[in-house]
Amino acid sequence: MSRIERVGFVGLGNMGGPMCGHLARAGLEVRAFDLDEAALGRAVDAGASAVRSAADCTDGAEALITMLPAPPQVEQVLLGDGGVIGALAPGSVAIDMSTSSRAVGERVWAAAAERGVDVLDAPVAGQSIGARAGTLAVYVGGERRVFERARPLFEVIGDPARIFHVGRNGAGYTVKLLLNLLWFIHSVAAAEVLSVGVRAGVSLDRLYAALVGSPANSNFLERDLRMVLDDGDYDEAFPMRLVTKDLGLAVDLARDVNMPVELTGLVEQIQRRARVAYGDDAGEISVVRLYEELAGSPLRLGNDAPEP
Ligand code: NAD
Repeated sequence: MSRIERVGFVGLGNMGGPMCGHLARAGLEVRAFDLDEAALGRAVDAGASAVRSAADCTDGAEALITMLPAPPQVEQVLLGDGGVIGALAPGSVAIDMSTSSRAVGERVWAAAAERGVDVLDAPVAGQSIGARAGTLAVYVGGERRVFERARPLFEVIGDPARIFHVGRNGAGYTVKLLLNLLWFIHSVAAAEVLSVGVRAGVSLDRLYAALVGSPANSNFLERDLRMVLDDGDYDEAFPMRLVTKDLGLAVDLARDVNMPVELTGLVEQIQRRARVAYGDDAGEISVVRLYEELAGSPLRLGNDAPEP
Protein backbone atom coordinates (compact mmCIF):
# COMPACT_ATOMS: atom_id res chain seq x y z
CA MET A 1 0.00 0.00 0.00
CA SER A 2 1.41 3.33 -1.03
CA ARG A 3 2.38 5.98 1.46
CA ILE A 4 -0.12 8.84 1.75
CA GLU A 5 1.41 12.04 0.37
CA ARG A 6 -1.55 13.81 -1.22
CA VAL A 7 -4.55 14.65 0.92
CA GLY A 8 -7.91 16.34 0.34
CA PHE A 9 -9.43 18.23 3.29
CA VAL A 10 -13.08 19.36 3.50
CA GLY A 11 -14.32 21.45 6.45
CA LEU A 12 -11.89 24.11 7.65
CA GLY A 13 -13.63 25.46 10.75
CA ASN A 14 -12.41 25.77 14.34
CA MET A 15 -11.05 22.22 14.22
CA GLY A 16 -10.47 21.44 10.55
CA GLY A 17 -8.65 24.70 9.81
CA PRO A 18 -5.72 24.07 12.17
CA MET A 19 -5.70 20.31 11.41
CA CYS A 20 -5.39 21.02 7.69
CA GLY A 21 -2.64 23.56 8.41
CA HIS A 22 -0.58 20.95 10.32
CA LEU A 23 -0.77 18.53 7.39
CA ALA A 24 0.33 21.19 4.90
CA ARG A 25 3.22 22.31 7.13
CA ALA A 26 4.29 18.65 7.55
CA GLY A 27 5.01 18.61 3.80
CA LEU A 28 1.92 16.82 2.54
CA GLU A 29 0.30 18.11 -0.64
CA VAL A 30 -3.12 19.29 0.59
CA ARG A 31 -6.11 20.33 -1.54
CA ALA A 32 -8.66 22.05 0.70
CA PHE A 33 -12.30 23.10 0.41
CA ASP A 34 -14.84 24.90 2.60
CA LEU A 35 -18.04 26.81 1.78
CA ASP A 36 -16.59 29.71 3.79
CA GLU A 37 -14.09 31.74 1.74
CA ALA A 38 -12.36 33.15 4.83
CA ALA A 39 -11.70 29.65 6.18
CA LEU A 40 -10.37 28.63 2.78
CA GLY A 41 -8.07 31.65 2.75
CA ARG A 42 -6.58 30.66 6.12
CA ALA A 43 -5.87 27.15 4.79
CA VAL A 44 -4.05 28.66 1.82
CA ASP A 45 -1.98 30.83 4.19
CA ALA A 46 -0.99 27.60 5.99
CA GLY A 47 0.23 26.04 2.73
CA ALA A 48 -2.78 24.17 1.30
CA SER A 49 -4.15 24.74 -2.24
CA ALA A 50 -7.74 25.98 -2.45
CA VAL A 51 -10.10 24.10 -4.79
CA ARG A 52 -13.68 24.89 -5.85
CA SER A 53 -15.55 21.82 -4.57
CA ALA A 54 -15.25 18.83 -2.26
CA ALA A 55 -14.91 16.52 -5.28
CA ASP A 56 -11.98 18.60 -6.55
CA CYS A 57 -10.14 17.73 -3.31
CA THR A 58 -9.99 14.11 -4.45
CA ASP A 59 -7.89 14.87 -7.53
CA GLY A 60 -4.77 12.67 -7.13
CA ALA A 61 -5.48 12.23 -3.41
CA GLU A 62 -4.63 9.01 -1.58
CA ALA A 63 -6.70 10.20 1.40
CA LEU A 64 -9.61 12.58 1.89
CA ILE A 65 -10.41 13.99 5.34
CA THR A 66 -13.76 15.50 6.33
CA MET A 67 -14.19 17.68 9.45
CA LEU A 68 -17.79 18.85 9.16
CA PRO A 69 -20.39 19.99 11.71
CA ALA A 70 -22.84 17.06 11.83
CA PRO A 71 -24.17 13.94 10.03
CA PRO A 72 -26.22 15.83 7.37
CA GLN A 73 -23.13 17.70 6.12
CA VAL A 74 -21.03 14.52 6.25
CA GLU A 75 -23.63 12.68 4.18
CA GLN A 76 -23.95 15.52 1.70
CA VAL A 77 -20.19 15.88 1.14
CA LEU A 78 -19.47 12.14 0.98
CA LEU A 79 -22.58 10.82 -0.79
CA GLY A 80 -24.53 13.79 -2.16
CA ASP A 81 -24.34 15.38 -5.61
CA GLY A 82 -20.67 15.52 -6.59
CA GLY A 83 -19.95 13.39 -3.52
CA VAL A 84 -16.41 12.55 -2.55
CA ILE A 85 -16.89 8.76 -2.35
CA GLY A 86 -17.86 8.68 -6.02
CA ALA A 87 -14.81 10.76 -6.98
CA LEU A 88 -12.05 9.06 -4.95
CA ALA A 89 -9.80 6.59 -6.76
CA PRO A 90 -10.09 2.92 -5.78
CA GLY A 91 -7.49 2.11 -3.12
CA SER A 92 -7.72 5.54 -1.52
CA VAL A 93 -9.15 6.19 1.93
CA ALA A 94 -11.95 8.49 3.15
CA ILE A 95 -11.43 9.53 6.77
CA ASP A 96 -14.31 11.24 8.55
CA MET A 97 -13.00 13.04 11.65
CA SER A 98 -16.32 14.79 12.40
CA THR A 99 -18.41 13.74 15.39
CA SER A 100 -21.03 11.96 13.31
CA SER A 101 -23.34 8.94 13.39
CA ARG A 102 -23.11 5.27 12.56
CA ALA A 103 -26.34 5.63 10.57
CA VAL A 104 -24.68 7.91 8.02
CA GLY A 105 -21.47 5.89 8.37
CA GLU A 106 -23.23 2.71 7.27
CA ARG A 107 -24.42 4.30 4.02
CA VAL A 108 -20.89 5.64 3.42
CA TRP A 109 -19.23 2.24 4.04
CA ALA A 110 -21.63 0.52 1.63
CA ALA A 111 -21.04 3.06 -1.15
CA ALA A 112 -17.27 3.06 -0.58
CA ALA A 113 -17.03 -0.74 -0.61
CA GLU A 114 -18.67 -0.81 -4.06
CA ARG A 115 -15.95 1.50 -5.37
CA GLY A 116 -12.98 -0.13 -3.61
CA VAL A 117 -12.46 2.92 -1.39
CA ASP A 118 -11.44 2.34 2.26
CA VAL A 119 -13.15 4.26 5.07
CA LEU A 120 -12.22 5.19 8.63
CA ASP A 121 -14.27 7.06 11.23
CA ALA A 122 -11.76 9.00 13.33
CA PRO A 123 -13.39 11.65 15.52
CA VAL A 124 -11.24 13.62 17.92
CA ALA A 125 -11.17 15.11 21.41
CA GLY A 126 -9.11 17.97 22.75
CA GLN A 127 -11.00 21.12 21.73
CA SER A 128 -9.85 23.79 19.29
CA ILE A 129 -6.87 24.52 21.52
CA GLY A 130 -5.72 20.91 20.95
CA ALA A 131 -6.36 21.24 17.21
CA ARG A 132 -4.11 24.33 17.09
CA ALA A 133 -1.43 22.66 19.21
CA GLY A 134 -1.57 19.37 17.25
CA THR A 135 -2.28 17.41 20.43
CA LEU A 136 -5.73 15.96 19.74
CA ALA A 137 -6.76 12.49 20.82
CA VAL A 138 -8.08 10.42 17.89
CA TYR A 139 -10.54 7.49 18.16
CA VAL A 140 -10.40 5.38 15.03
CA GLY A 141 -12.88 2.79 13.75
CA GLY A 142 -12.09 0.64 10.71
CA GLU A 143 -9.81 -2.11 9.47
CA ARG A 144 -6.42 -2.22 11.19
CA ARG A 145 -4.52 -2.21 7.88
CA VAL A 146 -6.30 1.03 6.87
CA PHE A 147 -5.68 2.50 10.32
CA GLU A 148 -1.94 1.72 10.05
CA ARG A 149 -1.80 3.34 6.64
CA ALA A 150 -3.46 6.53 7.93
CA ARG A 151 -1.61 6.61 11.25
CA PRO A 152 1.12 9.03 10.03
CA LEU A 153 -1.63 11.58 9.26
CA PHE A 154 -3.13 11.17 12.73
CA GLU A 155 0.33 11.61 14.26
CA VAL A 156 0.66 14.98 12.52
CA ILE A 157 -2.77 16.12 13.72
CA GLY A 158 -2.79 14.53 17.16
CA ASP A 159 -0.74 13.37 20.11
CA PRO A 160 0.97 10.12 18.96
CA ALA A 161 0.40 8.61 22.43
CA ARG A 162 -3.36 9.20 22.19
CA ILE A 163 -4.24 7.72 18.83
CA PHE A 164 -6.55 4.80 19.56
CA HIS A 165 -7.73 2.10 17.18
CA VAL A 166 -10.98 1.30 18.98
CA GLY A 167 -12.57 -1.29 16.68
CA ARG A 168 -14.40 -1.73 13.39
CA ASN A 169 -16.07 1.01 11.38
CA GLY A 170 -18.41 2.93 13.66
CA ALA A 171 -16.48 2.23 16.86
CA GLY A 172 -14.73 5.60 16.59
CA TYR A 173 -18.04 7.49 16.41
CA THR A 174 -19.39 5.41 19.31
CA VAL A 175 -16.44 6.01 21.62
CA LYS A 176 -16.39 9.74 20.86
CA LEU A 177 -20.14 10.18 21.47
CA LEU A 178 -19.88 8.30 24.76
CA LEU A 179 -16.95 10.29 26.09
CA ASN A 180 -18.75 13.53 25.23
CA LEU A 181 -21.92 12.20 26.85
CA LEU A 182 -20.10 11.43 30.11
CA TRP A 183 -18.53 14.91 30.09
CA PHE A 184 -21.91 16.61 29.55
CA ILE A 185 -23.42 14.51 32.35
CA HIS A 186 -20.53 15.61 34.60
CA SER A 187 -21.21 19.26 33.83
CA VAL A 188 -24.87 19.04 34.89
CA ALA A 189 -23.99 16.97 37.97
CA ALA A 190 -21.29 19.39 39.11
CA ALA A 191 -23.49 22.45 38.60
CA GLU A 192 -26.35 20.87 40.53
CA VAL A 193 -24.17 19.80 43.47
CA LEU A 194 -22.32 23.10 43.80
CA SER A 195 -25.45 25.25 43.56
CA VAL A 196 -27.25 23.21 46.22
CA GLY A 197 -24.21 23.59 48.48
CA VAL A 198 -24.14 27.35 48.02
CA ARG A 199 -27.88 27.63 48.70
CA ALA A 200 -27.34 25.56 51.84
CA GLY A 201 -24.90 28.21 53.04
CA VAL A 202 -21.61 26.32 52.61
CA SER A 203 -18.65 28.31 51.28
CA LEU A 204 -18.08 27.45 47.62
CA ASP A 205 -14.30 27.43 48.15
CA ARG A 206 -14.56 24.91 50.97
CA LEU A 207 -17.18 22.74 49.29
CA TYR A 208 -15.11 22.69 46.09
CA ALA A 209 -11.87 21.79 47.91
CA ALA A 210 -13.67 19.03 49.81
CA LEU A 211 -15.17 17.54 46.64
CA VAL A 212 -11.87 17.63 44.73
CA GLY A 213 -10.20 15.82 47.64
CA SER A 214 -12.97 13.23 47.90
CA PRO A 215 -13.86 9.96 46.13
CA ALA A 216 -16.47 11.99 44.20
CA ASN A 217 -13.81 14.02 42.37
CA SER A 218 -13.75 14.05 38.56
CA ASN A 219 -11.51 15.44 35.86
CA PHE A 220 -14.37 17.78 34.92
CA LEU A 221 -14.65 19.14 38.46
CA GLU A 222 -10.92 19.44 39.09
CA ARG A 223 -9.80 20.79 35.71
CA ASP A 224 -12.42 21.76 33.12
CA LEU A 225 -14.86 23.56 35.42
CA ARG A 226 -12.10 25.85 36.68
CA MET A 227 -12.56 28.24 33.76
CA VAL A 228 -16.09 28.95 35.01
CA LEU A 229 -15.22 28.98 38.71
CA ASP A 230 -12.13 31.19 38.24
CA ASP A 231 -13.05 33.45 35.33
CA GLY A 232 -16.74 33.08 34.48
CA ASP A 233 -15.65 31.66 31.10
CA TYR A 234 -18.15 29.11 29.72
CA ASP A 235 -15.80 28.09 26.85
CA GLU A 236 -17.19 29.38 23.57
CA ALA A 237 -14.63 27.32 21.64
CA PHE A 238 -17.28 24.56 21.56
CA PRO A 239 -20.79 25.97 21.10
CA MET A 240 -24.07 24.72 22.56
CA ARG A 241 -25.36 23.91 19.05
CA LEU A 242 -22.66 21.20 18.86
CA VAL A 243 -23.22 20.08 22.48
CA THR A 244 -26.91 19.38 21.79
CA LYS A 245 -26.04 17.81 18.41
CA ASP A 246 -23.73 15.33 20.16
CA LEU A 247 -26.27 14.60 22.89
CA GLY A 248 -28.98 13.96 20.28
CA LEU A 249 -26.63 11.51 18.55
CA ALA A 250 -25.90 9.78 21.89
CA VAL A 251 -29.64 9.33 22.52
CA ASP A 252 -30.05 7.93 18.97
CA LEU A 253 -27.15 5.56 19.55
CA ALA A 254 -28.69 4.24 22.78
CA ARG A 255 -32.06 3.81 21.03
CA ASP A 256 -30.40 1.92 18.16
CA VAL A 257 -28.88 -0.60 20.58
CA ASN A 258 -32.10 -0.79 22.62
CA MET A 259 -30.65 0.57 25.86
CA PRO A 260 -32.82 2.70 28.12
CA VAL A 261 -30.84 5.81 29.12
CA GLU A 262 -33.08 7.85 31.42
CA LEU A 263 -30.22 9.95 32.77
CA THR A 264 -28.94 10.75 29.27
CA GLY A 265 -32.44 11.82 28.19
CA LEU A 266 -32.74 14.17 31.14
CA VAL A 267 -29.28 15.63 30.67
CA GLU A 268 -30.00 16.17 26.96
CA GLN A 269 -33.13 18.17 27.84
CA ILE A 270 -31.32 20.26 30.48
CA GLN A 271 -28.57 21.06 27.98
CA ARG A 272 -31.22 21.98 25.37
CA ARG A 273 -32.74 24.38 27.90
CA ALA A 274 -29.30 26.00 28.32
CA ARG A 275 -28.97 26.34 24.53
CA VAL A 276 -32.36 28.07 24.27
CA ALA A 277 -31.59 30.32 27.24
CA TYR A 278 -28.11 31.46 26.16
CA GLY A 279 -28.04 30.88 22.39
CA ASP A 280 -26.63 28.48 19.84
CA ASP A 281 -23.13 29.94 20.09
CA ALA A 282 -22.98 30.05 23.91
CA GLY A 283 -20.07 28.15 25.45
CA GLU A 284 -20.17 24.42 26.13
CA ILE A 285 -20.35 24.81 29.94
CA SER A 286 -23.30 27.23 29.78
CA VAL A 287 -25.49 24.74 31.58
CA VAL A 288 -23.79 25.96 34.79
CA ARG A 289 -25.45 29.35 34.22
CA LEU A 290 -28.91 27.78 34.59
CA TYR A 291 -27.97 26.66 38.10
CA GLU A 292 -26.25 29.93 38.93
CA GLU A 293 -29.50 31.73 38.12
CA LEU A 294 -31.52 29.35 40.27
CA ALA A 295 -29.02 29.68 43.13
CA GLY A 296 -29.12 33.46 42.78
CA SER A 297 -25.37 33.96 42.46
CA PRO A 298 -22.54 33.02 40.10
CA LEU A 299 -20.36 30.09 41.15
CA ARG A 300 -16.95 31.75 41.58
CA LEU A 301 -14.05 30.76 43.79
CA GLY A 302 -12.11 33.23 45.90
CA ASN A 303 -15.07 35.10 47.39
CA ASP A 304 -14.97 33.47 50.79
CA ALA A 305 -16.29 35.54 53.66
CA PRO A 306 -13.97 35.63 56.68
CA GLU A 307 -14.57 32.84 59.15
CA PRO A 308 -17.26 33.64 61.74
P1 NAD B 1 -17.12 24.56 12.68
O1 NAD B 1 -18.57 24.87 12.55
O2 NAD B 1 -16.17 25.57 13.24
O3 NAD B 1 -16.53 24.13 11.22
C1 NAD B 1 -17.22 23.38 10.28
C2 NAD B 1 -16.78 23.86 8.90
O4 NAD B 1 -17.43 23.04 7.91
C3 NAD B 1 -17.18 25.31 8.61
O5 NAD B 1 -16.03 26.04 8.20
C4 NAD B 1 -18.21 25.19 7.49
O6 NAD B 1 -18.19 26.27 6.58
C5 NAD B 1 -17.77 23.89 6.83
N1 NAD B 1 -18.84 23.25 6.07
C6 NAD B 1 -20.11 22.99 6.45
N2 NAD B 1 -20.77 22.37 5.46
C7 NAD B 1 -19.89 22.23 4.44
C8 NAD B 1 -19.99 21.66 3.13
N3 NAD B 1 -21.13 21.10 2.70
N4 NAD B 1 -18.90 21.69 2.34
C9 NAD B 1 -17.74 22.24 2.78
N5 NAD B 1 -17.59 22.81 4.00
C10 NAD B 1 -18.67 22.80 4.81
O7 NAD B 1 -17.07 23.20 13.51
P2 NAD B 1 -15.80 22.61 14.32
O8 NAD B 1 -15.80 23.17 15.70
O9 NAD B 1 -14.60 22.69 13.46
O10 NAD B 1 -16.26 21.08 14.46
C11 NAD B 1 -16.16 20.14 13.38
C12 NAD B 1 -16.50 18.77 13.93
O11 NAD B 1 -15.58 18.44 14.98
C13 NAD B 1 -17.91 18.67 14.55
O12 NAD B 1 -18.45 17.41 14.24
C14 NAD B 1 -17.65 18.81 16.03
O13 NAD B 1 -18.65 18.17 16.81
C15 NAD B 1 -16.30 18.11 16.16
N6 NAD B 1 -15.48 18.53 17.31
C16 NAD B 1 -15.38 19.84 17.63
C17 NAD B 1 -14.57 20.20 18.73
C18 NAD B 1 -14.44 21.65 19.16
O14 NAD B 1 -13.93 21.90 20.25
N7 NAD B 1 -14.84 22.62 18.36
C19 NAD B 1 -13.88 19.23 19.46
C20 NAD B 1 -13.98 17.89 19.07
C21 NAD B 1 -14.79 17.55 17.99
